[in-house]
Amino acid sequence: MDNNTEKFDVCIIGASLAGNYLCYLISNLGLKIAVIEEHYDIGLPLQCAGIVSRKIKKLIEIPNSIILNKLKVAKLVSPSGKSILLSGDEEPLVIDRIGLDNHFYKQAERFSNVSYYLGERFKSFSYLKEQHQTKLWITTSKRKFTASMLIGCDGPLSSVAKSLKSKNKVIYASQIVIRGSFEEDQAVMYFNPDWKELFGWIVPEGNKRYRIGLASSENVFSKYKKFLGIIHIDFKSKISQQGGIIPYGLMKNVAFSNILLLGDAACQVKATTGGGIIMLLTAVKIAAIAIRKSFKANNFSKKYLKKNYEKPCKSLIGSQLKIHYLIRMLLERFSSKDYDTFFKILKTHHIEQKISFYGDMDFPNQLILQLLKSSLVIKFLLKFFLQNPILLPKILFIFLKR
Ligand SMILES: Cc1cc2nc3c(=O)[nH]c(=O)nc-3n(C[C@H](O)[C@H](O)[C@H](O)COP(=O)(O)OP(=O)(O)OC[C@H]3O[C@@H](n4cnc5c(N)ncnc54)[C@H](O)[C@@H]3O)c2cc1C
Repeated sequence: MDNNTEKFDVCIIGASLAGNYLCYLISNLGLKIAVIEEHYDIGLPLQCAGIVSRKIKKLIEIPNSIILNKLKVAKLVSPSGKSILLSGDEEPLVIDRIGLDNHFYKQAERFSNVSYYLGERFKSFSYLKEQHQTKLWITTSKRKFTASMLIGCDGPLSSVAKSLKSKNKVIYASQIVIRGSFEEDQAVMYFNPDWKELFGWIVPEGNKRYRIGLASSENVFSKYKKFLGIIHIDFKSKISQQGGIIPYGLMKNVAFSNILLLGDAACQVKATTGGGIIMLLTAVKIAAIAIRKSFKANNFSKKYLKKNYEKPCKSLIGSQLKIHYLIRMLLERFSSKDYDTFFKILKTHHIEQKISFYGDMDFPNQLILQLLKSSLVIKFLLKFFLQNPILLPKILFIFLKR
């Protein structure tokens, strides 16, 4: 390192939603911030269906221009075509995801202490001892510089996480946008043991345009074609096409010496829906406070960052993410017949309405408690656990592990 080496306080990798929102939140702290993004265009390529609960309005001020549609009903369809309808308080929004990423980018990049480096790839980091302080020596595809903190907001295949020997499992998604004539206020989810890690979806973005996708761990494109056949959509009728990767599993360690992981890089994603936006916005707020505290106390130790970031993250979203993962573990073992039986129980015993009322896309503990009040649900689950004896010890292990 020579005297000309550029010095930053914070280096954020990834200028998507997590990176841009974090940069915006800490941009007024007087810190020198570098944001490294491998693509030249913010928000592209699009990898999102853009459906979020209204909780987003409590987390951020969202411009009306970014809200494309408001939904009233979620329709869940079993492999044999039986369905249940969930409505109620949630009324999710369909958002312009490219617009949202750009919204925070535009607000953050006008600060003179913030430098965006687009079209540049993070490659590696190493620790650097400097006058009783540990800093980071960061290498990108175009430069080398130092920083006190590195924040990995670089998505499901995070290079920052990989450097820390933390790797996410992932599932793959395929999506097209078409013009069609489905319900305009209804999101539809198609469950099937063939794509057991998630579901196929139809999300109406308004003006008769629909986002139609599917995610699975393998052979996604052949499964996607099968799904399009089921819903009678011709792939060639697409207006646009997207692919994508969704992290799959539980949030792991997210704080290290001088380093935080955030968003998809930290697996802060609901295993039931693949949705990450609400979770990551919640985590970004915690990260911004932790970063401020670290610079104030001049303490970037793993212990301090775990206390101020990882612990609050685990208590606010970690336990909910575990519940989502538990539900997914159950659904993954459902046969086509199990779906029909379960939907029938929910429908004929008015539990459908309870889900509608208590249903919560992000924090499902209330919903689980309500479901467990039904003896029919308990009976179904008992039979199910007996058929899958390995499942209960697995669930207990996850819940007892800190
Ligand atoms: C098909 C699909 C549909 C989805 N639908 C929904 C939905 O409806 N609702 C919802 O809430 N969530 C949804 N999600 C999940 C949601 O999109 C993610 O949780 C969210 O985008 C995560 O944001 P992020 O900023 O953490 O990471 P990302 O959006 O993945 O951004 C990571 C950024 O880092 C950059 N980057 C990566 N590596 C490097 C590197 N080495 N150097 C520099 N830059 C790098 C990338 O270019 C990218 O800009 C969906 C995901 C997919 C794939």
